[in-house]
Amino acid sequence: MEQPPFVLVRVHEVALKRGNRRRFMRVLTDNLRRATAGLGVRSVEADHLVARLTLADDADWPTLRDALAKTPGAVKFTSVYRADLDYDEVAALVARVAKARRFSTFRISARFPLTSREMNVSLGALVEHETRARVDLTRPDLNIRVDVFASGAFVWTDEEPGAGGLPVGTGGRVAVLMSGGIDSPVAAWRMIRRGCRATLVHFHSFPLVEGRSREKARELAAALNAYQLDTRLYLTPFADVQRAIILSTRGPLRVVAYRRFMMRIAEAVARREGAQALVTGESLGQVGSQTLANIATVGEAAALPVLRPLAGMDKVEIIDQAQAIGTYETSILPDEDCCSLFVPRSPSTAVSVEEARAVERNLDVEALVAQAVEAAEVVEYHVGSRTVDA
Ligand code: ATP
Ligand code: MG
Repeated sequence: MEQPPFVLVRVHEVALKRGNRRRFMRVLTDNLRRATAGLGVRSVEADHLVARLTLADDADWPTLRDALAKTPGAVKFTSVYRADLDYDEVAALVARVAKARRFSTFRISARFPLTSREMNVSLGALVEHETRARVDLTRPDLNIRVDVFASGAFVWTDEEPGAGGLPVGTGGRVAVLMSGGIDSPVAAWRMIRRGCRATLVHFHSFPLVEGRSREKARELAAALNAYQLDTRLYLTPFADVQRAIILSTRGPLRVVAYRRFMMRIAEAVARREGAQALVTGESLGQVGSQTLANIATVGEAAALPVLRPLAGMDKVEIIDQAQAIGTYETSILPDEDCCSLFVPRSPSTAVSVEEARAVERNLDVEALVAQAVEAAEVVEYHVGSRTVDA
Protein backbone atom coordinates (compact mmCIF):
# COMPACT_ATOMS: atom_id res chain seq x y z
CA MET A 1 0.00 0.00 0.00
CA GLU A 2 1.25 3.44 -0.84
CA GLN A 3 2.27 5.93 1.89
CA PRO A 4 -0.77 7.84 3.18
CA PRO A 5 -0.61 11.41 1.93
CA PHE A 6 -2.48 13.02 4.82
CA VAL A 7 -3.04 12.97 8.51
CA LEU A 8 -6.31 14.31 9.87
CA VAL A 9 -6.30 15.69 13.39
CA ARG A 10 -9.60 16.03 15.17
CA VAL A 11 -10.53 18.38 17.96
CA HIS A 12 -13.30 18.25 20.48
CA GLU A 13 -13.37 21.06 22.99
CA VAL A 14 -12.00 23.49 20.47
CA ALA A 15 -15.26 22.92 18.64
CA LEU A 16 -17.17 24.26 21.63
CA LYS A 17 -15.39 27.60 21.56
CA ARG A 18 -17.86 29.17 19.20
CA GLY A 19 -16.58 32.72 18.86
CA ASN A 20 -12.95 31.67 19.26
CA ARG A 21 -12.89 28.60 17.04
CA ARG A 22 -10.82 30.23 14.36
CA ARG A 23 -8.24 31.43 16.83
CA PHE A 24 -8.09 28.04 18.54
CA MET A 25 -7.68 26.26 15.22
CA ARG A 26 -4.98 28.72 14.18
CA VAL A 27 -3.04 28.14 17.40
CA LEU A 28 -3.45 24.38 16.99
CA THR A 29 -2.21 24.39 13.40
CA ASP A 30 0.76 26.60 14.37
CA ASN A 31 1.62 24.18 17.15
CA LEU A 32 1.25 21.15 14.86
CA ARG A 33 3.52 22.81 12.31
CA ARG A 34 6.23 23.36 14.91
CA ALA A 35 5.82 19.98 16.61
CA THR A 36 6.28 18.18 13.28
CA ALA A 37 9.02 20.37 11.81
CA GLY A 38 11.63 18.26 10.05
CA LEU A 39 9.46 15.11 10.01
CA GLY A 40 8.31 15.32 6.40
CA VAL A 41 5.18 17.41 6.78
CA ARG A 42 4.61 19.65 3.76
CA SER A 43 1.77 21.73 5.13
CA VAL A 44 -0.71 22.00 7.96
CA GLU A 45 -4.11 23.57 7.30
CA ALA A 46 -7.32 23.96 9.21
CA ASP A 47 -10.39 22.66 7.37
CA HIS A 48 -13.28 23.62 9.66
CA LEU A 49 -12.71 21.55 12.79
CA VAL A 50 -10.12 19.26 11.30
CA ALA A 51 -6.44 20.04 10.92
CA ARG A 52 -4.99 18.41 7.82
CA LEU A 53 -1.32 17.57 7.53
CA THR A 54 -0.04 16.92 4.03
CA LEU A 55 2.89 14.52 4.11
CA ALA A 56 5.90 14.21 1.85
CA ASP A 57 6.79 10.75 0.51
CA ASP A 58 9.60 10.40 3.03
CA ALA A 59 7.53 11.41 6.07
CA ASP A 60 8.78 9.80 9.25
CA TRP A 61 5.49 8.32 10.45
CA PRO A 62 6.58 6.75 13.81
CA THR A 63 8.24 9.98 14.97
CA LEU A 64 5.39 12.00 13.55
CA ARG A 65 2.88 9.88 15.41
CA ASP A 66 4.72 10.48 18.68
CA ALA A 67 4.81 14.24 18.10
CA LEU A 68 1.09 14.33 17.28
CA ALA A 69 0.20 12.29 20.35
CA LYS A 70 1.88 14.97 22.46
CA THR A 71 0.12 17.98 20.98
CA PRO A 72 -2.61 19.31 23.28
CA GLY A 73 -5.86 20.18 21.53
CA ALA A 74 -5.62 17.17 19.22
CA VAL A 75 -8.14 14.62 20.44
CA LYS A 76 -7.67 11.98 17.76
CA PHE A 77 -5.61 11.65 14.66
CA THR A 78 -5.38 9.24 11.80
CA SER A 79 -3.45 8.74 8.60
CA VAL A 80 -5.65 9.12 5.57
CA TYR A 81 -5.74 8.19 1.89
CA ARG A 82 -7.40 10.45 -0.63
CA ALA A 83 -9.44 9.89 -3.78
CA ASP A 84 -11.08 12.34 -6.16
CA LEU A 85 -14.80 12.79 -5.77
CA ASP A 86 -15.70 9.96 -8.09
CA TYR A 87 -17.34 6.73 -6.98
CA ASP A 88 -15.07 4.40 -8.94
CA GLU A 89 -11.95 6.09 -7.58
CA VAL A 90 -13.24 5.87 -4.04
CA ALA A 91 -14.16 2.21 -4.50
CA ALA A 92 -10.73 1.36 -5.91
CA LEU A 93 -9.06 3.07 -2.98
CA VAL A 94 -11.27 1.31 -0.40
CA ALA A 95 -10.38 -2.00 -2.00
CA ARG A 96 -6.63 -1.20 -1.81
CA VAL A 97 -6.90 -0.16 1.85
CA ALA A 98 -8.89 -3.29 2.71
CA LYS A 99 -6.57 -5.66 0.87
CA ALA A 100 -3.57 -4.28 2.76
CA ARG A 101 -5.12 -5.47 6.03
CA ARG A 102 -6.02 -8.78 7.68
CA PHE A 103 -9.43 -8.93 9.31
CA SER A 104 -12.46 -11.18 9.33
CA THR A 105 -15.22 -8.67 10.03
CA PHE A 106 -15.56 -5.07 9.01
CA ARG A 107 -17.97 -2.28 8.40
CA ILE A 108 -18.01 0.72 6.16
CA SER A 109 -18.82 4.07 7.74
CA ALA A 110 -19.26 6.56 4.99
CA ARG A 111 -20.15 10.15 5.70
CA PHE A 112 -21.45 11.54 2.51
CA PRO A 113 -24.15 14.15 2.59
CA LEU A 114 -26.70 12.47 0.33
CA THR A 115 -26.04 8.84 -0.34
CA SER A 116 -24.00 7.40 2.50
CA ARG A 117 -26.32 4.40 2.93
CA GLU A 118 -25.88 3.38 -0.69
CA MET A 119 -22.15 4.01 -0.34
CA ASN A 120 -22.01 1.73 2.71
CA VAL A 121 -23.90 -1.02 0.94
CA SER A 122 -22.01 -0.97 -2.33
CA LEU A 123 -18.56 -0.47 -0.79
CA GLY A 124 -19.39 -3.20 1.73
CA ALA A 125 -20.23 -5.62 -1.07
CA LEU A 126 -17.01 -4.68 -2.81
CA VAL A 127 -14.87 -5.33 0.28
CA GLU A 128 -16.66 -8.63 0.95
CA HIS A 129 -15.90 -9.67 -2.57
CA GLU A 130 -12.27 -8.56 -2.44
CA THR A 131 -11.37 -9.94 0.99
CA ARG A 132 -13.93 -12.64 1.89
CA ALA A 133 -14.44 -10.87 5.24
CA ARG A 134 -18.00 -10.29 6.33
CA VAL A 135 -19.87 -7.23 7.47
CA ASP A 136 -20.44 -6.73 11.19
CA LEU A 137 -21.96 -3.37 12.03
CA THR A 138 -21.67 -3.61 15.80
CA ARG A 139 -18.22 -5.03 16.60
CA PRO A 140 -16.16 -5.08 13.44
CA ASP A 141 -12.43 -5.85 13.49
CA LEU A 142 -11.92 -3.03 11.07
CA ASN A 143 -13.98 0.09 10.47
CA ILE A 144 -13.27 1.52 7.04
CA ARG A 145 -14.30 5.13 7.01
CA VAL A 146 -14.98 7.32 4.05
CA ASP A 147 -15.34 11.05 4.71
CA VAL A 148 -16.33 13.29 1.90
CA PHE A 149 -15.26 16.91 1.87
CA ALA A 150 -15.22 19.45 -0.92
CA SER A 151 -11.50 18.74 -1.25
CA GLY A 152 -11.91 15.03 -1.86
CA ALA A 153 -12.94 11.69 -0.38
CA PHE A 154 -10.77 10.56 2.51
CA VAL A 155 -10.47 6.90 3.42
CA TRP A 156 -9.10 5.89 6.78
CA THR A 157 -9.26 3.10 9.34
CA ASP A 158 -7.55 3.32 12.71
CA GLU A 159 -7.66 6.40 14.87
CA GLU A 160 -4.98 7.08 17.44
CA PRO A 161 -5.74 8.89 20.68
CA GLY A 162 -4.27 12.38 20.94
CA ALA A 163 -3.38 14.33 24.07
CA GLY A 164 -6.82 15.95 24.21
CA GLY A 165 -7.33 19.27 25.98
CA LEU A 166 -6.74 22.65 24.36
CA PRO A 167 -3.94 24.02 22.18
CA VAL A 168 -0.99 25.42 24.12
CA GLY A 169 -1.08 29.19 23.95
CA THR A 170 -4.83 29.58 24.34
CA GLY A 171 -4.85 29.49 28.14
CA GLY A 172 -2.33 32.10 29.27
CA ARG A 173 0.81 31.45 31.28
CA VAL A 174 1.29 29.79 34.67
CA ALA A 175 4.34 29.37 36.88
CA VAL A 176 4.66 25.79 38.13
CA LEU A 177 6.54 24.96 41.33
CA MET A 178 8.27 21.87 40.01
CA SER A 179 10.27 19.67 42.36
CA GLY A 180 12.10 16.62 41.08
CA GLY A 181 9.27 14.45 42.40
CA ILE A 182 6.45 12.57 40.71
CA ASP A 183 3.56 14.94 41.31
CA SER A 184 4.49 18.42 40.19
CA PRO A 185 5.58 17.46 36.64
CA VAL A 186 2.16 15.83 36.23
CA ALA A 187 0.55 19.02 37.55
CA ALA A 188 2.53 21.01 34.96
CA TRP A 189 1.42 18.67 32.19
CA ARG A 190 -2.22 18.95 33.19
CA MET A 191 -2.08 22.73 32.90
CA ILE A 192 -0.18 22.53 29.62
CA ARG A 193 -2.91 20.25 28.35
CA ARG A 194 -5.47 22.87 29.30
CA GLY A 195 -3.75 25.23 26.90
CA CYS A 196 -1.38 27.00 29.31
CA ARG A 197 2.25 27.79 28.80
CA ALA A 198 4.10 26.66 31.90
CA THR A 199 7.20 28.37 33.24
CA LEU A 200 8.89 25.89 35.57
CA VAL A 201 10.35 27.01 38.89
CA HIS A 202 12.60 24.50 40.62
CA PHE A 203 14.19 25.07 44.04
CA HIS A 204 17.43 23.33 44.90
CA SER A 205 19.49 23.33 48.05
CA PHE A 206 22.90 23.16 46.47
CA PRO A 207 25.43 23.31 48.14
CA LEU A 208 23.61 22.11 51.28
CA VAL A 209 22.92 18.91 49.35
CA GLU A 210 24.32 17.46 46.11
CA GLY A 211 23.16 19.08 42.90
CA ARG A 212 21.21 16.05 41.69
CA SER A 213 17.77 17.63 41.69
CA ARG A 214 18.83 20.23 39.13
CA GLU A 215 19.68 17.51 36.65
CA LYS A 216 16.30 15.91 37.24
CA ALA A 217 14.57 19.24 36.81
CA ARG A 218 16.35 19.73 33.47
CA GLU A 219 15.29 16.30 32.27
CA LEU A 220 11.73 16.87 33.39
CA ALA A 221 11.66 20.24 31.65
CA ALA A 222 12.87 18.63 28.44
CA ALA A 223 10.13 15.96 28.71
CA LEU A 224 7.44 18.57 29.30
CA ASN A 225 8.78 20.69 26.47
CA ALA A 226 7.68 18.02 24.01
CA TYR A 227 4.11 19.04 24.88
CA GLN A 228 4.48 22.81 24.99
CA LEU A 229 7.34 23.41 22.51
CA ASP A 230 8.90 26.33 24.46
CA THR A 231 9.87 26.08 28.10
CA ARG A 232 11.73 28.25 30.53
CA LEU A 233 13.09 26.57 33.64
CA TYR A 234 14.25 28.63 36.64
CA LEU A 235 16.80 26.71 38.71
CA THR A 236 16.46 28.68 41.89
CA PRO A 237 18.89 28.48 44.84
CA PHE A 238 17.06 27.85 48.08
CA ALA A 239 19.90 27.15 50.52
CA ASP A 240 20.09 30.71 51.87
CA VAL A 241 16.36 30.75 52.60
CA GLN A 242 16.68 27.40 54.32
CA ARG A 243 19.62 28.50 56.45
CA ALA A 244 17.65 31.56 57.58
CA ILE A 245 14.61 29.45 58.44
CA ILE A 246 16.60 26.78 60.25
CA LEU A 247 18.18 29.44 62.46
CA SER A 248 14.88 31.11 63.34
CA THR A 249 12.12 28.54 63.17
CA ARG A 250 11.10 25.58 65.31
CA GLY A 251 11.42 22.23 63.55
CA PRO A 252 7.72 21.38 63.20
CA LEU A 253 6.98 24.66 61.40
CA ARG A 254 9.83 24.54 58.92
CA VAL A 255 8.18 22.72 56.03
CA VAL A 256 5.39 25.26 55.87
CA ALA A 257 7.90 28.09 56.27
CA TYR A 258 9.94 26.72 53.32
CA ARG A 259 6.81 26.40 51.22
CA ARG A 260 5.67 29.94 51.89
CA PHE A 261 9.01 31.19 50.63
CA MET A 262 8.71 29.00 47.55
CA MET A 263 5.32 30.59 46.87
CA ARG A 264 6.72 34.10 47.16
CA ILE A 265 9.74 33.41 44.98
CA ALA A 266 7.60 31.63 42.38
CA GLU A 267 5.23 34.58 42.43
CA ALA A 268 8.10 36.98 41.75
CA VAL A 269 9.13 34.78 38.81
CA ALA A 270 5.49 34.66 37.67
CA ARG A 271 5.28 38.44 37.57
CA ARG A 272 8.49 38.64 35.58
CA GLU A 273 7.16 36.03 33.14
CA GLY A 274 3.65 37.45 32.86
CA ALA A 275 2.16 34.33 34.47
CA GLN A 276 -1.30 34.75 35.97
CA ALA A 277 -1.37 31.83 38.40
CA LEU A 278 0.89 29.53 40.38
CA VAL A 279 0.59 25.74 40.13
CA THR A 280 1.67 23.07 42.62
CA GLY A 281 1.55 19.28 42.66
CA GLU A 282 -0.24 19.16 46.00
CA SER A 283 -2.73 16.35 46.51
CA LEU A 284 -4.99 16.63 49.50
CA GLY A 285 -3.82 14.63 52.49
CA GLN A 286 -0.96 12.93 50.65
CA VAL A 287 1.57 14.02 53.27
CA GLY A 288 1.43 16.03 56.49
CA SER A 289 2.26 19.27 54.72
CA GLN A 290 -0.74 18.84 52.43
CA THR A 291 -3.58 19.03 54.91
CA LEU A 292 -6.25 21.62 54.19
CA ALA A 293 -4.89 23.77 57.01
CA ASN A 294 -1.33 23.77 55.67
CA ILE A 295 -2.40 24.17 52.06
CA ALA A 296 -4.28 27.29 53.14
CA THR A 297 -1.33 28.69 55.11
CA VAL A 298 1.09 28.02 52.26
CA GLY A 299 -1.25 29.51 49.66
CA GLU A 300 -1.75 32.62 51.75
CA ALA A 301 1.83 33.70 51.07
CA ALA A 302 1.01 34.42 47.43
CA ALA A 303 -1.44 36.96 46.05
CA LEU A 304 -1.78 35.16 42.71
CA PRO A 305 -4.27 32.29 42.55
CA VAL A 306 -2.70 28.91 43.28
CA LEU A 307 -3.98 26.07 41.09
CA ARG A 308 -3.65 22.50 42.34
CA PRO A 309 -4.66 20.26 39.46
CA LEU A 310 -3.85 17.09 41.45
CA ALA A 311 -5.77 18.07 44.58
CA GLY A 312 -8.36 15.32 44.12
CA MET A 313 -6.18 12.63 42.59
CA ASP A 314 -4.88 9.47 44.25
CA LYS A 315 -1.17 8.66 44.18
CA VAL A 316 -1.80 5.62 41.96
CA GLU A 317 -3.59 7.77 39.40
CA ILE A 318 -0.79 10.33 39.48
CA ILE A 319 1.83 7.62 38.98
CA ASP A 320 -0.09 6.18 36.02
CA GLN A 321 -0.23 9.60 34.47
CA ALA A 322 3.46 10.25 35.11
CA GLN A 323 4.25 7.01 33.29
CA ALA A 324 1.99 7.87 30.39
CA ILE A 325 3.51 11.32 29.85
CA GLY A 326 7.10 10.13 30.20
CA THR A 327 8.21 11.86 33.42
CA TYR A 328 8.04 8.94 35.85
CA GLU A 329 11.42 7.38 35.14
CA THR A 330 13.16 10.68 35.82
CA SER A 331 11.04 11.52 38.86
CA ILE A 332 11.97 8.31 40.68
CA LEU A 333 15.73 8.80 40.31
CA PRO A 334 17.15 9.29 43.79
CA ASP A 335 17.79 12.80 45.01
CA GLU A 336 17.60 14.71 48.27
CA ASP A 337 14.33 16.56 48.74
CA CYS A 338 15.25 20.06 49.89
CA CYS A 339 12.15 20.29 52.09
CA SER A 340 13.16 17.37 54.27
CA LEU A 341 16.30 19.20 55.38
CA PHE A 342 16.36 19.77 59.11
CA VAL A 343 12.73 18.82 59.44
CA PRO A 344 11.53 16.49 62.23
CA ARG A 345 9.85 13.20 61.44
CA SER A 346 6.42 14.57 62.17
CA PRO A 347 6.07 18.19 61.09
CA SER A 348 2.99 20.12 62.18
CA THR A 349 -0.11 19.24 60.18
CA ALA A 350 -1.82 22.52 61.04
CA VAL A 351 0.37 25.62 60.96
CA SER A 352 -1.76 28.74 61.19
CA VAL A 353 -1.11 31.85 59.14
CA GLU A 354 -0.43 33.69 62.41
CA GLU A 355 2.24 31.20 63.45
CA ALA A 356 3.86 31.44 60.03
CA ARG A 357 3.83 35.22 60.10
CA ALA A 358 5.29 35.30 63.59
CA VAL A 359 8.25 33.30 62.32
CA GLU A 360 8.68 35.50 59.28
CA ARG A 361 8.85 38.67 61.37
CA ASN A 362 12.40 37.65 62.29
CA LEU A 363 13.43 37.30 58.66
CA ASP A 364 14.13 39.77 55.88
CA VAL A 365 11.53 38.18 53.61
CA GLU A 366 11.76 40.63 50.75
CA ALA A 367 15.53 40.48 50.52
CA LEU A 368 15.61 36.68 50.62
CA VAL A 369 13.00 36.48 47.85
CA ALA A 370 14.74 39.07 45.71
CA GLN A 371 18.13 37.36 46.10
CA ALA A 372 16.73 33.98 45.11
CA VAL A 373 15.08 35.34 41.96
CA GLU A 374 18.22 37.25 41.08
CA ALA A 375 20.44 34.19 41.49
CA ALA A 376 18.18 31.82 39.53
CA GLU A 377 19.74 30.15 36.51
CA VAL A 378 17.36 30.22 33.54
CA VAL A 379 17.42 27.36 31.04
CA GLU A 380 15.40 27.43 27.82
CA TYR A 381 14.06 24.58 25.75
CA HIS A 382 12.58 24.77 22.27
CA VAL A 383 11.37 22.00 20.04
CA GLY A 384 13.73 21.47 17.19
CA SER A 385 16.77 22.91 18.92
CA ARG A 386 19.10 21.98 21.71
CA THR A 387 19.06 23.37 25.23
CA VAL A 388 20.60 26.82 25.44
CA ASP A 389 21.56 28.45 28.70
CA ALA A 390 20.23 31.99 28.86
P1 ATP B 1 6.19 16.34 44.24
O1 ATP B 1 6.03 14.91 43.86
O2 ATP B 1 5.71 17.30 43.22
O3 ATP B 1 7.54 16.67 44.79
P2 ATP B 1 5.26 15.86 46.86
O4 ATP B 1 4.15 14.90 46.99
O5 ATP B 1 6.64 15.41 47.14
O6 ATP B 1 5.18 16.54 45.45
P3 ATP B 1 5.72 18.04 48.62
O7 ATP B 1 7.14 17.67 48.70
O8 ATP B 1 4.92 18.22 49.87
O9 ATP B 1 4.86 17.05 47.79
O10 ATP B 1 5.61 19.35 47.76
C1 ATP B 1 4.36 19.93 47.48
C2 ATP B 1 4.49 20.82 46.27
O11 ATP B 1 5.39 21.89 46.56
C3 ATP B 1 5.10 20.12 45.09
O12 ATP B 1 4.15 19.40 44.35
C4 ATP B 1 5.66 21.29 44.31
O13 ATP B 1 4.64 21.95 43.60
C5 ATP B 1 6.17 22.19 45.42
N1 ATP B 1 7.59 21.88 45.69
C6 ATP B 1 8.11 21.11 46.66
N2 ATP B 1 9.45 21.05 46.57
C7 ATP B 1 9.81 21.82 45.53
C8 ATP B 1 11.05 22.17 44.90
N3 ATP B 1 12.22 21.70 45.34
N4 ATP B 1 11.00 22.99 43.84
C9 ATP B 1 9.83 23.46 43.35
N5 ATP B 1 8.64 23.16 43.90
C10 ATP B 1 8.62 22.35 44.96
MG1 MG C 1 8.40 16.22 46.60
